[in-house]
Amino acid sequence: MTTAYITHDHCEKHDLGEDHPEAPQRLGSIQNRLISGQLLDFLRWTDAQPATRDQLIATHDKAYVDSIFERSPLQDHVELDSDTFMMPHTLDAALCAAGSVVQAVDMVFDGEVNNAFCAVRPPGHHAEYDRAMGFCVFNNIAVGARHAINAYGLKRIAIIDFDVHHGNGTESIFQRDPNVLYASSYQHPFFPFSDPGESHDNIIHMPLSAGSGSQEFREIMHQQLLPQLDKYKPELVMVSAGFDAHKEDFMAQIRLKDDDYTWITDLLLDVAERHCKGRLVSVLEGGYELDALGRAVFCHLKSLMKL
Ligand SMILES: [Zn+2]
Repeated sequence: MTTAYITHDHCEKHDLGEDHPEAPQRLGSIQNRLISGQLLDFLRWTDAQPATRDQLIATHDKAYVDSIFERSPLQDHVELDSDTFMMPHTLDAALCAAGSVVQAVDMVFDGEVNNAFCAVRPPGHHAEYDRAMGFCVFNNIAVGARHAINAYGLKRIAIIDFDVHHGNGTESIFQRDPNVLYASSYQHPFFPFSDPGESHDNIIHMPLSAGSGSQEFREIMHQQLLPQLDKYKPELVMVSAGFDAHKEDFMAQIRLKDDDYTWITDLLLDVAERHCKGRLVSVLEGGYELDALGRAVFCHLKSLMKL
């Protein structure tokens, strides 16, 4: 199995200040764990290409995309929402984050790799059609999924989001799009306070109450998600891989362990192998406790590499 690891130095320069949990050190922590676990040499390390304006406006409002370019500061910061800021390096990082997913889709469809992981930031799943939110500027996975639809004519893409927060942005972008099935497990009630009762046929909500752990997570995935994925028969599996449901993560109160990330990755890779020749593209979302993040991503990648 060949797995691409797509990242860029720009993603480590987007720095929101010492106290912000969405910190540049997140990527360093992942890379350090991959080095100490001797996984890095076996990954196809790839520099992310920035997304083009056309790729962004295929998913986002043109005026919104233009406003992000126009507002990019030369110094200090610009506030996009109460916890989402642009610094001088944010635009380059956000372009590489969105572009990395486009590139991952191309690498998987070219047969260059079996699957891919985009180690990028800022994250994406809270960004909506025309607004930034929750640390997210562009919806990276949505930009990649739209590219897969436009470039390869896909009609069934499954996006599975196991970040501890509901991916309101991804849901709102695809909620009337039959080409995408979006399934999200998340702590509820919790930021961004989405309503699990308000839904569409192609959207699956899997709320978990605070304090839930491995058992509840595995049950919900096995009983609710798996049958629907097998019925849908995706042509591409995409993963919004947030690691903030880890029990050591301070951001929320779900209590997953390292091996739950191996378990869910094995399950999703099996789905991809059953229905779409193993094609899977995974994109980093949250995960803020640095050591737990490094270990959880290590488990995720080891599973993707079938080691
Ligand atoms: Zn999150």
